[in-house]
Amino acid sequence: MARFLKMTCLNCGIVNRVPGEKIGAGPKCGTCGSRMNDGKVREMDPAVLAKAAKNDDLPLLVDFWAPWCGPCRMMAPAFQEAAQSLAPNARLAKINTEDYPKVSMKNNIRGIPALILYQNGKEIARQAGAIPANAIEDFVRQKAKVTS
Ligand SMILES: [Zn+2]
Repeated sequence: MARFLKMTCLNCGIVNRVPGEKIGAGPKCGTCGSRMNDGKVREMDPAVLAKAAKNDDLPLLVDFWAPWCGPCRMMAPAFQEAAQSLAPNARLAKINTEDYPKVSMKNNIRGIPALILYQNGKEIARQAGAIPANAIEDFVRQKAKVTS
């Protein structure tokens, strides 16, 4: 019996259902064909974030950042590195709080960078401030249920 994992396409925002055993097989979005969990950090908009936050079964770590924020820019390579390490069992994405100021308010974010971890359709943990790649990875592995 296949267990399906819900995963929002970070490109088009459609919620896909991926069989658990196909998570590592490079699944693509059934609507737009975009790779779902290839270890690349994708930019989200508030609509995609809202959908992913309340649907995704696969752990999703979102970096709330802005271009004017020095520590945010410094953390970007570490965030990308952690995304590669955690793929295909968790996804990392970012949202630009300068473009979308309301998302900070809606999520009670007082300072950036802020990381929010979602799994099984809800927020499970958050972390404030810039941290190195191994700490990002440990945070996801410790707080979420990550397959491997
Ligand atoms: Zn798609």
